[in-house]
Amino acid sequence: MPKKSIAKTNKDDQVIDSMLRPSSWQDYIGQEHIKKGLRVILAAAKKRNESSDHLLFYGQAGLGKTTLANLIAKEMNANLKIASGPTLEKVGDIVATLSNLENGDILFIDEAHRLNRVIEEALYPAMESRKIHIIIGKGPASRTICLDLPPFTLIAATTRPNLLSSPLRSRFGAAFRLDYYEVKDIEIIIKRSAEILGIGIDLGAVSIIANASRFTPRIANRLLKRSRDFAEVNNINMIDSETAYKTLNLLEIDKIGLEIADRQLLEAIIKKFNGGPVGASNLAAAIGEDKEIIEEVFEPYLIRIGMIQRTSSGRVATEKAYKHLRNVKHEV
Ligand code: ADP
Repeated sequence: MPKKSIAKTNKDDQVIDSMLRPSSWQDYIGQEHIKKGLRVILAAAKKRNESSDHLLFYGQAGLGKTTLANLIAKEMNANLKIASGPTLEKVGDIVATLSNLENGDILFIDEAHRLNRVIEEALYPAMESRKIHIIIGKGPASRTICLDLPPFTLIAATTRPNLLSSPLRSRFGAAFRLDYYEVKDIEIIIKRSAEILGIGIDLGAVSIIANASRFTPRIANRLLKRSRDFAEVNNINMIDSETAYKTLNLLEIDKIGLEIADRQLLEAIIKKFNGGPVGASNLAAAIGEDKEIIEEVFEPYLIRIGMIQRTSSGRVATEKAYKHLRNVKHEV
């Protein structure tokens, strides 16, 4: 039998990811308060035969913001047009995007905190009164023309809502914060994904993967996919606890989902900065990582599980962090 690589190509993964993305509210597990809020907003819009208000979703990557936009489009029977903050660079980009919208369309802008000011300013009148102002020419001869847009809904997603300007934030009819999932919900997601992927998994393995998932569906699915690869390569027809542990080991992820970089970060606070407090920039320099990545990716989870605390003078490692690092060393 030819030996398969544990790392599948990106393309394979993308196809699998689209299979795993929930296509009904029923399959969208957890985040009950959001589903409840959306149900009212969407039902009211449908009853009035109007587009829904503009919506903002914020929370860590992989928690289900894009999936919500897809579900809303389906519910409203609307086309979903997708853009991303960093790709909308010039006024021309946003004008082209907006002027291509048709009646009832939903425009989803991911990474909205990376929209530049010029784009944000073009969005204000579009969101408020469905107009875009285009300046033609330069200097005294320039003139502004105003284009009317059809009714549409803007859905923006961001991991950093504090970086959106307040005029932009205030133009959303509702803002929803996606929280980390409960382990029991992640377990349901893993079981559903295993079924879609056609691989058996026992309850022990479900629990191991859920606990290492950082309470995040995308990570849970990724760990499941890698466990499936491991099982296939080793001719195992069911993901059991041993397969799940060995997969985590191979990926150098520990039982609570920390990767090498997370452990390096904790170790740096403890060893290089005597347990803290230490500022994000110093920490970033010490471990050779981007300050933004530390703030956006590592810290929220480490804070959530009580490994670090944020104080006014910087980050501090907690007793739990010291204990965890000692235990991980013993395991290895
Ligand atoms: P985000 O846009 O917040 O980065 P996504 O919506 O792309 O996250 O979600 C990543 C993946 O996680 C989805 O493709 C889907 O398979 C899974 N997922 C996210 N939220 C849920 C959920 N509530 N229930 C089931 N699966 C989910």
